[in-house]
Amino acid sequence: MAYTVLARKYRSRTFDEVIGQEPIATTLCNAIQAGRIHHGYLFTGTRGVGKTSMARILAKALNCLEADAPTATPCCTCEACTAIAEGQDIDVLEIDAASNTGVDNIRDLRSNAAYRPARCRFKIYIIDEVHMLSTGAFNALLKTLEEPPEHVKFILATTEIQKVPATIQSRCQRFNFRNIGTDEIARRLEGITAEEGAQVEPAVARRVARLAAGSMRDALSILDQLLSISPDGLSTEVLDEVIPPPQDEQVTQLLTYAADGDVARVLEHADQILAGGRGLDIFCGDAIEVARQLMLLRACGADSHAVDIAAGERERYIALAARFELSHYVQMIAMLEELRRNVRFSAAGRALVDAVLVRIANLASWSSIESILAGGDGHEKKKSPPKPVSRPAASVVASQPEPSATAPLEPVARARPAPVRPPAARPAPAADPSAAQAPPPAAPETPPKPAAEGEAVDRDAILKDPVVGKALELFDGVVIDADRDPARRAAPGTPRNTDGT
Ligand SMILES: [Zn+2]
Repeated sequence: MAYTVLARKYRSRTFDEVIGQEPIATTLCNAIQAGRIHHGYLFTGTRGVGKTSMARILAKALNCLEADAPTATPCCTCEACTAIAEGQDIDVLEIDAASNTGVDNIRDLRSNAAYRPARCRFKIYIIDEVHMLSTGAFNALLKTLEEPPEHVKFILATTEIQKVPATIQSRCQRFNFRNIGTDEIARRLEGITAEEGAQVEPAVARRVARLAAGSMRDALSILDQLLSISPDGLSTEVLDEVIPPPQDEQVTQLLTYAADGDVARVLEHADQILAGGRGLDIFCGDAIEVARQLMLLRACGADSHAVDIAAGERERYIALAARFELSHYVQMIAMLEELRRNVRFSAAGRALVDAVLVRIANLASWSSIESILAGGDGHEKKKSPPKPVSRPAASVVASQPEPSATAPLEPVARARPAPVRPPAARPAPAADPSAAQAPPPAAPETPPKPAAEGEAVDRDAILKDPVVGKALELFDGVVIDADRDPARRAAPGTPRNTDGT
């Protein structure tokens, strides 16, 4: 018996079965029920999100032989429905524009379109990857799209909408297919493995869903591969063999040490991770993804749908997210991405990795402009309107345990308006000659000292200085220290940007 790949076997057959594109299914259903059927549809979205499936369902809805008119609930059993589902119906022609790019192909289509359908209501052309058509072919298609015969419908699909001429787009009803959510894919995978009589650990389904990055077809391809190795059940061990796991847990541990400002442990832990032999660029990629999730968590709060973290790891992420500021994550991601590109071409990749990790470990000792502005002076409202950052950030902090005694005071400082800012104005420039290099443990010296009147004014004046503001904005900089000497007013604003940009 021939084996059918899962992506084909479990293709959705009706509007009700569609996964991840419910709004489009509903819109099309309503249009059919209202008798408002357009002559041209344009489906756009990344690969594997259900464009072809939706095109076939729409074709069945229009042409089902069991119904007297177009129906939102095609039977799926009549000759037309079954043939359309296989992509082999005589009246529903599927054309792959990638291999039929020429003007002649479209001319054939046009002359063919003049004939009435053989047995169904409509002659339907499903043109996949329509952006691949040549200019001449597009022009030929345009004429037909403008005034098609009554019995002709077009369903165009593309992964690259920007390559489809505006003239074509404007003659179609356009539907944007979204990437399918990790949760939806994971649920579907669990359902399918159950139907296939195999056990799957939820963690496996979730990881496969994440790897598929929004594409149901990719998810099912991976599942096919896994089931061919282990038909009865899928454990994390099987998955690890096929696709080595992301180093999330190890990376979050690494960033925890970095938040502590503990450079030694950061480097030692990195050594341990990299000894696994996964490759420097893969390590960078994993670290970028972790930093991104932490940034989302920090910016949007733990309940946001944008945050994609497995249930078992949530607490750890939430606690860690509050320990860096948003701007730190921005810098982290930029540094790691640059690192990822550099390590591929460098013979000293490992040294580059270590150097960037040292910088990341020092990030926590810097404060961003936004946290200083939110420091409780009351002036910040003028300068920066309430940002979405503040609310969710507070909720993240509230739900996490107090940091350990050795930790820097970052999260606490953020949660309350207490003046625990390490970079608060210092009484005199000479107070701490090594101020620029001050490690986080130096921070506690500052808080007990009530800010003098002059200092507050000084810092405030500096922050209000348009030159300083512009410099900070341009370089995404942070204020490390404030200097009283008006002659050197611009100096404190000079950002110590790790990028060196
Ligand atoms: Zn039917």
